[in-house]
Amino acid sequence: MTNLRKPANPSHCPYCKGNGYFQLRLGGSETCTVCQGSGKK
Ligand SMILES: [Zn+2]
Repeated sequence: MTNLRKPANPSHCPYCKGNGYFQLRLGGSETCTVCQGSGKK
């Protein structure tokens, strides 16, 4: 079973990796402006 390839979800936002927001280093989070926080493309 070496052919276990996980198909990348094409509908998720590649910018925030589908999270819908960014985790800021200084604390808190910022809504992804690319997907408007939906996490989808
Ligand atoms: Zn996004």
